Amino acid sequence: MSGSDGNDIARRITALSCPADADIRGAMEAINRGALGVAILCEGPGGRLRGLVTDGDIRRALLAGKGLNSPAADIANRLPLTARTDDPPEKTAALLSERSRFIPVLDAEGRVRDLAYYDKRSHLPVADAAFGQEEVANVMECVLTGWVSSAGKFVTEFERSFAAFCGVPHAVAVCNGTCALHLALVALGLGPGDEVIVPSLSFIASANSVAYTGATPVFADSEPGTWNIDPEQIERLITPRTRAIMPVHLYGHPADMTAIMAIARRRGLAVIEDAAEAHGARWEGRRVGAIGDLGCFSFYGNKIVTTGEGGMVVTERQDLAERMRMLRDHGMSPQRRYWHPVLGYNYRLTNLQAALGVAQMGRIDATLARKREVGAAYASALRGIPGLSWVAAGASSWPVYWLNSILVDPAEFGMDRDALMSRLRELGIETRPVFPVLHRQPIYDRAERLPVAEGISARGLSLPSAANLTPAEVVRVAEAVARARK
Ligand SMILES: *Cc1c(COP(=O)(O)O)cnc(C)c1O
Repeated sequence: MSGSDGNDIARRITALSCPADADIRGAMEAINRGALGVAILCEGPGGRLRGLVTDGDIRRALLAGKGLNSPAADIANRLPLTARTDDPPEKTAALLSERSRFIPVLDAEGRVRDLAYYDKRSHLPVADAAFGQEEVANVMECVLTGWVSSAGKFVTEFERSFAAFCGVPHAVAVCNGTCALHLALVALGLGPGDEVIVPSLSFIASANSVAYTGATPVFADSEPGTWNIDPEQIERLITPRTRAIMPVHLYGHPADMTAIMAIARRRGLAVIEDAAEAHGARWEGRRVGAIGDLGCFSFYGNKIVTTGEGGMVVTERQDLAERMRMLRDHGMSPQRRYWHPVLGYNYRLTNLQAALGVAQMGRIDATLARKREVGAAYASALRGIPGLSWVAAGASSWPVYWLNSILVDPAEFGMDRDALMSRLRELGIETRPVFPVLHRQPIYDRAERLPVAEGISARGLSLPSAANLTPAEVVRVAEAVARARK
């Protein structure tokens, strides 16, 4: 939307305007003066609106053979969407979209007083990668030295810094988060006949990585408070075939690792943490990923640390780390080149990708501090809006708020999740629905009912959560949510 003071606006409207009987050349001159890609056709200066002509309208007219002297009114949109000067600005903003980019604001006499316009910069994405000069320098070094593949100093440095960050001795870099999970499960020796307990409320990769090994994912319901796997449900699902538990720290909130580790130790089960969304989060002071036997991370483009595509497995156990290094490199013997005692994979990360990761690990504390500020800003800005709830972080939990997500109670909020999402989309606020539950996915399609996970999945959405979101932008999102309520 245009902002600034009244004089600025009046000057801009004058610059953008041309007489209603102007030719195409006249409209093009107005477009040039206003620099917004549009001209307003008016009945005399400051007069009543007669239509809008955009750059695109002129291009199409010229391509269709019209001359610069033909009347602009012939190619104008004579009935554009309009707003009134006394309309609330957010109502006007709600009319703007990629397809309806300009909305003249008219006074009671129909004269143009302002122009609201869609501005890409006012678009707030759910997540946004923020790269700096360090990334550029590191990537440049890879290119200039030729170390672009999976050998090179950045891979080693990324593993070293990530292990130190998590407080574990070993980190094994791989080509994505799904490979990290698969490699961890293979290293534990999982296969056909085994069962792994996985929360149903997660991204598909949590379950697929289990299925890749031939083992069966068994789906658990969530806790209503944290949205994470419910330890009581885990207990209920254990069978003689159960070999492992895979808690997922959803949206940057740690699962109850105290309860999960107690069950695992008592029942002799391995724990693989899917920490793809929770880099740096802590449970009882310890970094997630470092609490179970193995912890897996993703560096996909929208994650807290990103290398474009990438992943990491961390562990305390040297035997597992060694096995994973071998498995990610075609199962090749460390003692003998091109000799393959086990069936391995090519799951290596490139030096180019690790170069991005190293740069981001250098400022990870600042990134997490920003993410936590955004999380706190949402908690206070959303407080008191009836019909909304969100994840409650307990005393043991130090979440990193990968995505700030809310639950919409349609009865109290007056609209359902999907209606709220489309309302926010009109305002340039991108959101995304909570994952569909895994036990209902076509590839798994299980009969069980998991009411908590199903409820969150149907009613939850994630709000813009980039680390560089400003407090004013958080307030803008929260106000848009509050005003959407019926
Ligand atoms: C992103 C993600 C993954 C997979 O990571 P990729 O790098 O995209 O393969 C796994 N689990 C969860 C919960 C994720 O969010």
